[in-house]
Parts: sequence; C-alpha cells; structure tokens
Amino acid sequence: MNYDADVAVIGSGMAGLTAAVLLAKEGKKVLLLEQNWLAGGCSSSYPRKNYVFESGATTLVGLDPHMPLEFLERETGIKLNPWELSIPMKVYLKNGEVLTRYKNLDQWIAEAERVFGSKGQAAFWKECYKIAHFVWETSLVQRAFPPSSVKDLIYAATHFQPKQLGFAAKAFVSVEDLLKKYGLFENELFKEFVNEQLLITAQNYLEEVNILFGATALCYTNFTNYYMPGGLGKMVDILVGYVEQHGGKLLTRTPVSQILPQNDHYKLKSNYRGEEQEFLVRNVVSSIPINNSLELLDNDLFNKKYQKKILRSDKLNSAFQMGFVITRKENVDCLHHQIHLDEALPYAGSHSIFLSWSHPDDGERCGPDELVGSISTHVPDPARNFVEKKEKIEETIWRNLERVGLAMKKDVVYQHSSTPGSWEKWTKRSWGFVGGYPQYMKIKPWQMLDARFDGKGMYICGDSTYPGQGIPGACLSGIVAVEKMKLDGVLKKK
Ligand SMILES: Cc1cc2nc3c(=O)[nH]c(=O)nc-3n(C[C@H](O)[C@H](O)[C@H](O)COP(=O)(O)OP(=O)(O)OC[C@H]3O[C@@H](n4cnc5c(N)ncnc54)[C@H](O)[C@@H]3O)c2cc1C
Repeated sequence: MNYDADVAVIGSGMAGLTAAVLLAKEGKKVLLLEQNWLAGGCSSSYPRKNYVFESGATTLVGLDPHMPLEFLERETGIKLNPWELSIPMKVYLKNGEVLTRYKNLDQWIAEAERVFGSKGQAAFWKECYKIAHFVWETSLVQRAFPPSSVKDLIYAATHFQPKQLGFAAKAFVSVEDLLKKYGLFENELFKEFVNEQLLITAQNYLEEVNILFGATALCYTNFTNYYMPGGLGKMVDILVGYVEQHGGKLLTRTPVSQILPQNDHYKLKSNYRGEEQEFLVRNVVSSIPINNSLELLDNDLFNKKYQKKILRSDKLNSAFQMGFVITRKENVDCLHHQIHLDEALPYAGSHSIFLSWSHPDDGERCGPDELVGSISTHVPDPARNFVEKKEKIEETIWRNLERVGLAMKKDVVYQHSSTPGSWEKWTKRSWGFVGGYPQYMKIKPWQMLDARFDGKGMYICGDSTYPGQGIPGACLSGIVAVEKMKLDGVLKKK
C-alpha cells in the first residue's frame, strides 16, 4: 500500500509540532495537518495592518536545563535563539503596590516580603522553588507517565529516583494547604496575588491546584523567561522548517473531519470548503483536545471509555484578547504585566488582565517608535459566557491601563479584540476553550489523559492531556507521546 506519510499529526500547535519534530528526527515522514491558514494554534503570530500580533501566548519559558524546549533543542540540534529577559514580570495589585517578579529567588523573596510582610514568605517560596525544580527534572526523566502498560511500568522503574517517593504525596496537598502551613492563609493580599498568578499558569485557584503543579506555576518567573524576536510564530516556523527539511510536510487549511481506523493503518478525511482529501498513514498523533479528537473517531466504545476524562465548558476557560499598537516606547524595562482590576471585567468576570509588549528592539513587529501590546484575560464557561459587547470590556481595560500608567488610549494607532467565538474559529476547539485543562484537586497527575489513545496506532497530546498546560506543558505532552510510540515499537515498523 502507498502511504501518504508514516505519521499524520493533527494540529500544528506546540504539542503537535513537538511530536512532529521528534518523529521527523526518528526518520519518520510526517504529515502535519492544520485546519487554520497558519500553523501554531494558541502560540503563533499573525500579520495585520503591517503589524505582527501574538495569537495567544506571549511569555516563553522552557529553555533552562531539564525543561521541555531545551530537551527538544538538545535532541534535534534545533536552535530557537530567543532573547533572555532580565525582568520576567511585574504585578500591579489593587492597593496600588507594584511587585517585580525577579528571577533570582532571594531577590524575589525580599520583594515579596516588602509587599506581603515577612511572615512565612521565605519558607513558602523556598519550598515552592524546590518542588518546581523537582517537577521539571522528574518530568523529563519519567517520559512514559502516566503509566498505562507494562512497558511504561518497566520504564518508570528503571528511571526511578528515590527522591520521587516523597513527592507523590504532594499531589494530595493543595496550594491552599501550603499557605496554611506557613501561616499565610489569613494574608488576604497575598491570597489574592497567589490566586491571580495561579490563574494564568495553572488555570485555577489555590484550593484546586495541587502543589506539584501549583509550585511549578508560581515559580514560572524563577526560570529564565524569553522573548522570540518577530513573535512566537518564528518559533513555529523553525519547528515546521525542521519537519519539512526531514521529508515531512505541513498542509494548512486542511481540517481533519474523520479518522477511519483500518486493519493496520488509518484513513483520514478532510473537507475544506467542499474540497475533499483523504490521507493514508500508519499512525496518528492527535494534538487537538480530547473531545475534538473523539468527534473525529466517532466510536461509541471510545466515547464511553473517555466520558469521565472530558471536562465540559463549566470547568473550562476561554479568553478575551485585545491587540493594539501605541506610538510610545519609553519606560519599557519589563515586557509582561499582570494588572489586578479595580472591578471585575464585564461579561468575563475576571479580576486581572495580562499585558505583554513587543520587545522595544524588535523591528519585525512594528515601526521604530511603536510597540505592539497584547492583552488577555480569562472568560470562564465559554459555552454560556458570550461576550456580546466587546466595547464594554475594552473600556474597563483601558481605564485600568491608564490607572496604573502602562498605556494611554490617546497613543493608540490601531486596536482589535477577540472573544471565545474568535477562538473557536481560530483553533476549532469546542466553545473556543483555550489555555488547557485547568488543574483540579480530584484529578491527580496519574489520572490525567494518557498519550495512548486507541491502544493501537493512535496517540494524543496537547493541553487537554498530561501534563499539557502552557507552551512547556504542551511541548512535554508531545515528548511523552513520542516516547510511548517508541516503547510500543510503532516507530520501527516499515
Ligand atoms: C490568550 C492565551 C494566552 C496564553 N498565554 C500563554 C503564555 O503566555 N505562555 C504560555 O506558555 N502559554 C500560554 N498560553 C497557553 C498556550 O498557548 C497553549 O496551552 C498551547 O499553545 C497549546 O498548544 P496545543 O498544541 O495543545 O494546542 P493548540 O495551540 O490549540 O493547537 C492545536 C492546533 O490544532 C488545530 N486543529 C484543531 N482542530 C483541527 C482539525 N480537526 N484538523 C486539523 N487541525 C486542527 C488548531 O487550529 C491548532 O492550530 C496561552 C493561551 C491563550 C489562549
């Protein structure tokens, strides 16, 4: 039989791209099928009016030792060459205090003590930091997690490190418990800070996030933060380029509409504006969310098997986003800013917004005297939370940006915004849910979705699977999927 490729990867976000790159490195011919006109999904960049905007993600970590993007670079020889940021983030609290989230732990503890008082801060952050390092170091050692076969268990045993023992218990401890342990639970200002920080990195609040994920999320700024000149789309271009140089192909505007498992291969159907295509491949990696993946298989057995793993809209988030350009460049010592709002945003109900600037030295995204701004905020339960009047949200955003002195509306030369509906179109994800599956205490890491999907030749990765959130998580999910394919021997087949 003539195959169109060895492996079809559905979706070209960071999870799919990671899997595609690693499969290409293994000598596999990869077909990357992307429904959008542009690769990258929630972490890409698009041109509009001579400017370059980020589609979703703006912050970038994962290139320190033991982290997923560094692993990808090391395995493949790819060089992303992002710029290192000296200050990862600033946070503007409701009471007017501005915190600088320094990378250096001691400097950060001193800053936290200045704003929240000295009680418990040093001990809290030292424990979080230790856990965060443990989580990243272990994740790349235990690449067959969560185990679902004897081979996975053997892999886990042969890669076992004694320090893992004590940490498994931490999946039962929430960030709220950790605050209580250090006498910080009554500190309302600190609680509010932790909640809003967790929301952008773990998609949930302190009572729902276990400390393995929570500490990693809270210490996001204690790892090296980077900026991709030209936008995150440049990283996507490099990864797509690698796949193509290794005999693979990216087909955009190719939405997979059906997956038909045959005896020892898969037939994939696609229909774009009436143009039908079929692809025959040995293996499939779906990097789209689990509910969307199930729709493509349309198999009652799998639908039943995975029912309990699917989160519905009321447990998920979408995003409201605003891209704008201003004619002002002074005072940009930090690119990323979380602003806590003086009132909840209309429709979205969120209590903070996140602003990221383009780098002042980045001439690819705007003119020399301009900056591109990206604002994003959560919209919970997107199936029910239609954002009807964008202008109302934009007004509140501008009032708050002016209040903290980050930008003035009079300096704006161009602005547009997007709602959950825009996300549904951009990514084809149900209800436009984005940002990954939020953390919930009742879902332990080992209960998250395994990369082996149909137990045959189809695998799954992406931000609704283990461990899946943010660029590093999505990237790690792709690494895990390929490791399981290796263990199953499917990459050896000719
Ligand atoms: C507003 C916002 C801000 C964020 N900020 C950050 C941040 O600052 N830092 C960070 O690390 N992370 C951030 N994230 C999270 C991060 O962007 C995502 O978790 C990650 O990019 C998800 O990657 P993915 O590959 O799992 O999914 P996606 O990026 O959604 O990729 C899936 C791809 O599959 C395609 N697709 C869907 N259905 C089909 C189909 N049937 N056929 C073919 N193709 C299909 C989609 O078009 C898409 O390109 C942010 C997310 C959002 C939305």
